[in-house]
Amino acid sequence: MILLLFGAPGAGKGTLAEMLTKHYKLPHVSTGDLLRYHLSKGTEIGKKAKEYMDTGLLVPDDVVLEILEEKMDEKDCHRGYVLDGFPRTVEQAEALDEMIEERSAKISHVFNIDVPRDVIVKRLCARRVCSKCGAIYNVEFKPPKKEGTCDVCGAPLMHRSDDKDDVIRKRLAEYESKTRPVLDYYQKKNLVRTVKGTDSAEMFGKIVDIVGK
Ligand code: AMP
Repeated sequence: MILLLFGAPGAGKGTLAEMLTKHYKLPHVSTGDLLRYHLSKGTEIGKKAKEYMDTGLLVPDDVVLEILEEKMDEKDCHRGYVLDGFPRTVEQAEALDEMIEERSAKISHVFNIDVPRDVIVKRLCARRVCSKCGAIYNVEFKPPKKEGTCDVCGAPLMHRSDDKDDVIRKRLAEYESKTRPVLDYYQKKNLVRTVKGTDSAEMFGKIVDIVGK
C-alpha cells in the first residue's frame, strides 16, 4: 500500500505520516528527512542539496529522484510506504509513476492535507524537531514536557534553519508555483482525497476511515 501525503510545508504531513506508519506498520519515506540525513553526513548529495535547502528552494529533481529510488528498493519498502514531501513537481510525479510501475506497485491514495495558511505560518515558526529521533513538537501547541528536550528519547530539540521567517516565505512560494500543480496531476487520475482541518488526530481518523482499518 502506497499512501501519499500532499500539502504545503507545515500542513502537518510529518506528524500524520508518523501516526499512519505506526498504525499500518509501513515505513515513512520523507525526502526532506533523507536529504537532511545526507546533509548531516556531508555526502555528495548533501553538498548538492545544501544551498537549495538553506534558501527554501526545491532541490533539483535528479538529486531527489536518486535518493528516493535508492530508498524504494530497501527491503522494508516492499510492502508499501507512506510518502511525505514527494512529489513536489509534476516532473517528479511523472518519474514516480514510472518507478512505481517498474516495481509493479500502485499508489493507493493521495491525501491533500488542507490547512489554513495562517495556521501553517504560525506552526512553522514554532516547530521544533528532535535532533535524534525526528519527533515533531510545537512550542505553542504541542510543547515537550521539558523545554528543549525530546519526550521520546531525551535528545535536544532543534529549530530547523529553514523554519525561519524569510526561508518559510520562500518555501511557501515554491509550493504555490511548483508543487500545487501536482494536485491537478493526481486529480485527473482520480486519486485525491482532501482532508481539511487543523487537528492531526482528527485528520488521522478521517484518513483511516478512507483507507480502512
Ligand atoms: P521538508 O522537510 O519536506 O519540508 O523538506 C525540506 C527541504 O528539502 C525543502 O524545502 C526542499 O529544499 C527539500 N526537499 C524535500 N523534498 C523535496 C522534493 N521532493 N523535491 C525537491 N526538494 C525537496
